Order: sequence, then structure tokens, then C-alpha cells
Amino acid sequence: MSFIVAIDGPAGTGKGTVTSNLAKRLNLVYLDTGAMYRAVTLKFIRESIELDNLEDLSPEQKERVTNLLKNIKLDMKDKKIYLDGEDVSEEIRRDPVNSYVSQVSHIEEVRKSMVDLQRKISEGKNVILEGRDIGTNVFPNANVKIYLDASVDERVKRRLKQNAEKGIKSSEEEVRKNIVFRDNNDKNASIAPLRQAEDAIYVDTSDLSINEVQNKLYKIVKNAKRDSKWIEKGYIMTKETTWKKFERWFVKGVLASTYHICLRVEKKGMDNLPKDEGFIICANHLNYLDAAGIVLLNKRKVRFVGKDNLYRFPILSWLGHMFDIIPIKRGKNDMASIKMCLKALKNNEIIGIFPEGTRKGLEKQEKIKNGAVFLAAKANAKIVPVGIKGNFKLFSKVRFNYGKPIDINSYKNNDDPDWLDKASDAIMDEIVRLTEE
Ligand code: C5P
Repeated sequence: MSFIVAIDGPAGTGKGTVTSNLAKRLNLVYLDTGAMYRAVTLKFIRESIELDNLEDLSPEQKERVTNLLKNIKLDMKDKKIYLDGEDVSEEIRRDPVNSYVSQVSHIEEVRKSMVDLQRKISEGKNVILEGRDIGTNVFPNANVKIYLDASVDERVKRRLKQNAEKGIKSSEEEVRKNIVFRDNNDKNASIAPLRQAEDAIYVDTSDLSINEVQNKLYKIVKNAKRDSKWIEKGYIMTKETTWKKFERWFVKGVLASTYHICLRVEKKGMDNLPKDEGFIICANHLNYLDAAGIVLLNKRKVRFVGKDNLYRFPILSWLGHMFDIIPIKRGKNDMASIKMCLKALKNNEIIGIFPEGTRKGLEKQEKIKNGAVFLAAKANAKIVPVGIKGNFKLFSKVRFNYGKPIDINSYKNNDDPDWLDKASDAIMDEIVRLTEE
């Protein structure tokens, strides 16, 4: 499995410095894709490819370009780039490369060849790539996408400083012209134009020091790296072995006894639970202990759908695996989670869902989630509403009132686009009624 970080944005946003630094701090392979396009541009210049009319390549030009790309040798090592074995790291930052790189990078053949190479280099590795189209085109499924931006004035200032440090002579006018020209060219390119990916995090660096940007990005990437590890683990449910069954039986027994000691439990309507089929339990959500009550005080295994970050914490992750809690990503259409629920229902298992989405969602006036109704309709499974009443203080009374199974077909109305929401609201009303009964 590789871990991909995509850093996109226009010239002069500090991408280069920040990205190479993050690579070092987070032990990621660093790939400066701009440098690759620059090296190709240098090769074109050296090979005297006609650069002033790159919009429409003649068939002969196309053939030359294709051959050239086939034979070009690019190597990236320690922030240096080698073109056919020669270190060209300095030369590619100067004119005439500066003036032509934007046009060269938008030649279809060049683009395809570089994108293929970028993907090949990244295969199976943990990589941070900086460029213009990484999050939108090269790696649309990157683990992290960041779009760095800054005002033109600030970018000109930074580029001038950078050039001075490298001993490259340049006037403000010249740098500004080049930045504006490249911005326009990159943003209006017909293939893979520069734009922020929908799921990219936007960071305006105009008023931030390079250290501040670095620390901000470091936190984002570090968290994502940690998440990617537990997502891999958490999403793979452990197998149902005899040992796991025994472990669950034992832990369930101990925890259920503790539950009974700490709370005065009252259960009503348990006869309403279907016996051998899969179904969905929908309850109101007051406290984490209400889910525990449903799981521990039911003979059959109830698999709750829970926030995926539960698998980040060792003890919760252990319990999550033992009780086969189905992880779900908040606020996203989590297909992996939906598939897991459907599979469980098909296997005659019981799924537990809180339609309020969060604790005391009704009180917070959250929109009732329609996931349970969606799953019930898809799997042709019934929904059992449960009203829970109690404050979960030590030795206080808590009541679980199980209602009659609801056949979702009675609400189904394909002519009404809002039927899922309406059915979900009706089920929530029934849950509330059961809390009061
Ligand atoms: O990042 P840098 O300024 O070195 O990039 C040089 C040029 O290469 C950009 O202006 C852009 O035209 C092109 N480029 C690109 N796609 C990338 C990276 C750079 O088109 N992924």
C-alpha cells in the first residue's frame, strides 16, 4: 500500500521548500513534478525543437517529440534532477526554461509521459508530490490533498528573494510577468489545468511564514498518515474464530453483569425481536452506554455502526473487533461501510444504528439520518425501533423499550424523492414515542 500526499498550487507559494521539508520530517519520497517538466523543456531547447508554436504540433514534430520522450532519462536524487545523467538542477530554474516550461508542459505527449513516470516512481511507496495537477489528475485518490495559494505580490516577493539567494539575477517586473503568464497558462490549460481538487485542503500562505505553513501541513499529513494505518487495520474485520466467540462470550458476560450492577435495567418488548433473520435496531442516542446496553443485554450479537475513529484507540479497537463494530466515516458516503452492513444483513446479522447520528442529535436539531431506512430498503430487512430512557447516572434506572418491527415497504414511494427522509423521521417519531410509553 502506498501513501500519497498531493501538494498543488501556483508558482511561488512556497510549495518547493515546504514539500521537501515535509518529505524529510515524515520520511516520504519527494517528487518535484515541476522540475520534471522543466528538465523536459531543457531537453527540447537543447534538441532545437521549435518552441514558439507548440499549440498545434505537425505530425513530424509529434514524432520527434514522442521519440525524444521515449529516450529521455530523468533521475531525481537528493533534491537534484539529472537529465541524461547530467545535473541540471540549476539550469532548469533559469531562462529560457522559465519562459517555455508552461507551454511544453501542456503538450499532450509530454503530459502523458510525465504523468506515467510520476505514477511509476510512486508505486508502492510513501510519496509527497508537488505540482499543479497531482490531486486532480495524477493521483485523484491521494490520501491527502493540499492546495497552496498566495497573492501575486507575495509570490513575486518570495521568488525574488529565492533567486537572490541562488545568485540568479532577475528584476521584479520580469518575475511578475513570468508568474502571471504561467498562472494564466496553467489555469487555462486544456489538459489537466491548475485548479483545486474538490477534496483538497486550501491553505492561503500570503500571511504565513514558511515555518507556519510547514507546521500546519505537518499536522495535516501526520494525522492522515496515522489515519491511513488504522483505516487499513480497522476496515479489515477479524475473522469469527472459536477463540473470538469465546472471548466475546466471556467479555460480554463480565460487562453485562457490571452493567446490571451499575444501572437498574428494565427491558420491555423483547418478544418483538425477530428470531432468526437479519434486521436493524434503531434507537435514540443519549450516552455511549445506550449502545453498550443494546449489545450486552441481547442474546444475539448486535453489530453497531460506529464512528471509524474508534479504531484509533487500542482498547476501543479491541472491543470494536470483538463485537464487529462497523466503522463509518462521518459526513461521507462511505461505500465500504454500506457494503459491510448489507453483507451483515444478508448473513442474518443484527445491525444497530442511531438515526440521530450523534448523541442527543434530536435536541441539537440535527437532521435525522436516513442510512438505516436506505439499508432496510436495500436489504429488505425490518427496522426495530427502541426507545431508551434514563440519565445513566450510577444506580439510576434505564429502560429499553423495544417496539414492533417496521416493514419499510409500507413507506416506500419511489415517486417521492424525499421518501427516505420522511420514513426516517417517522421511525424517529416512533422511537420517541417508545421512550415515553
Ligand atoms: O513548479 P514549477 O514552477 O517548477 O513548475 C514549472 C511549470 O511546470 C509550471 O508552471 C507548469 O506549467 C508546469 N507543471 C505542470 N504540472 C505539474 C507541475 C508543473 O504543468 N504537475
